Amino acid sequence: MKVIDHIRNAKGKTLFTIEILPPLKGENIRSLFDNMDPLMEFKPPFIDVTYHREEYVYKKKEGGLLEKRSTRKRPGTVGICAAIQNHYKIDTVPHIICGGFNREETENALIDLHFLGIDNVLVLQGDGIKNEGRFVPEPDGHKYASELLQQVVDMNQGKYLDEDLQNTTPTNFCIGVAGYPEKHFAAPNLKTDLKYLKMKVDLGAEYIVTQMFFNNKVFFDFVDKCREIGITVPIIPGIKPITTKSQVSILPTTFHIDIPEELADEVEKCRDNAAVKEVGIEWCVQQSRELMTRGVPTLHYYSMGKSDPIYRIARQLF
Ligand SMILES: Cc1cc2nc3c(=O)[nH]c(=O)nc-3n(C[C@H](O)[C@H](O)[C@H](O)COP(=O)(O)OP(=O)(O)OC[C@H]3O[C@@H](n4cnc5c(N)ncnc54)[C@H](O)[C@@H]3O)c2cc1C
Repeated sequence: MKVIDHIRNAKGKTLFTIEILPPLKGENIRSLFDNMDPLMEFKPPFIDVTYHREEYVYKKKEGGLLEKRSTRKRPGTVGICAAIQNHYKIDTVPHIICGGFNREETENALIDLHFLGIDNVLVLQGDGIKNEGRFVPEPDGHKYASELLQQVVDMNQGKYLDEDLQNTTPTNFCIGVAGYPEKHFAAPNLKTDLKYLKMKVDLGAEYIVTQMFFNNKVFFDFVDKCREIGITVPIIPGIKPITTKSQVSILPTTFHIDIPEELADEVEKCRDNAAVKEVGIEWCVQQSRELMTRGVPTLHYYSMGKSDPIYRIARQLF
C-alpha cells in the first residue's frame, strides 16, 4: 500500500514510522529483525530503508603501498525491503538515489522493486562519495532528485527508456522526496531550496520527509513557508533522539543542522552517555508531543541502527 494512502486512512491521527539502515556487509538479517521486533508493538504502517552508495577505502598492501578499493558497506536495500514485507507484512519505502546509477540501472532497479510489490520510493540525489566533497553524477545518470523523480513518473506512465517498447506495464510508485527545514547545505538560501522542493512536488512527489531537526519552531516555519509557495502535500517530520555526547558535534557536521543551546547545555552537563541518552529521549518525547498536537501525519524516527531509544519514546506516545 502507498504511503499517501496510509496517511489518508489515518484520518488525521499521527502515525508511528521509522527509517532503518541495512546491516553492515557480513552481518545477519536476524540482528536487524531482533532490533526491529520490539517496535512492531507500535504498528508502523511503513518503514523506510536507506540506500548507501559505494565508498573508497584504502588497504595496506605488502611493502606498505596503499590500494584504493571501492566498497559498499551497507548493501542490501532492496533485499531488506522485500524481507521486511515478507516477514512483518509491513510496507516499505526503499530510498533510491541518483549517485552511482545511470538511467538504465535505475530503470532496472525500479523494475525489480515493482516486481517485488513495493509501492513506494523516496527519491533522492544521494550523498556524495565520502571525501569527494561534492556530488558527482554518473555519466548518463541524474544530477538532481527531480530528474530521477521524472524517470519514476515516466515509468508510472508506462514510459521506459527504450521508446520502441510496446504495451509496457506502468509501475505505480508513490513518490516521496526530502525537504530541509534548515536548508540543504548546498543551497544558497532557503528560498531557492524551497523553489526546487516545489519543483519536485509539481513533478509528482506526493509527500515530503524532512531532515532531522531539534527545534520544532524550525519545522513549523518550514511548513508555513512551503504552504505559502503552494506546496500542499503532507510534510512528515523526521526526528531523532541524541544518544551520545559526541553527536552534539557529529550531527551538525554530518547533517548541517543546529542543536539548540538548551539541549547542547543539558548534554554537556551529563557525566556519561547513559545520562545523555536520558536527556535525548526526554527532548525527543517533548518534540514528538508538540508535533503530534499540531497534527503531523506521522512521526518518522531515524533509528540509525538503534531501536531501544525509539522504543522508549514510542511507549510514551503511541
Ligand atoms: C529524509 C532523508 C532521507 C535520506 N536518505 C538518504 C539515503 O538513503 N541515502 C543517501 O545517500 N542519502 C540520503 N539522504 C541525504 C540526501 O541524499 C542528501 O541530503 C543530498 O545531498 C540531497 O538530496 P535531495 O534529494 O534533497 O537532493 P535534490 O533535491 O537534488 O537537491 C540537492 C541540492 O540541489 C539543489 N537543487 C535541486 N534541484 C536543482 C536544480 N534543478 N538546479 C539547481 N539546483 C538544484 C537543492 O536546492 C539542493 O541544494 C537523505 C536525506 C533526507 C532528508
